[in-house]
Amino acid sequence: MCNHDLIAFTEGSTTGVRCSYCDYSLVTTYIEPIYEDENTYTITLEAGNTADQQTIKAISKITGENYIFAKRCLENTPIEIVKGSAAEIIELKKSLDLCGIKYSITPEFPY
Ligand SMILES: [Zn+2]
Repeated sequence: MCNHDLIAFTEGSTTGVRCSYCDYSLVTTYIEPIYEDENTYTITLEAGNTADQQTIKAISKITGENYIFAKRCLENTPIEIVKGSAAEIIELKKSLDLCGIKYSITPEFPY
């Protein structure tokens, strides 16, 4: 093993670290249920959110759309803003919770 930086990686249900330079890697094969979940979840933006800059910015980031699109979503609640796998949704959920944005996830999100 050399002294290069180790980089964390996730490939399907495999996670571990690998060297940024040589072939060294350390793999953990523990399969988290979230990565085996084949459902598609939908995040719906609920009414009652303030259309302030922080909220618009967060929605823009989550949807990958621009500021105008995000603002329009906020004006047309409830509205579906994004669909994704459990592993994707959990990351977006964190951002939404952090910003105190009102939303719902269907089907029920168990993570
Ligand atoms: Zn190395």
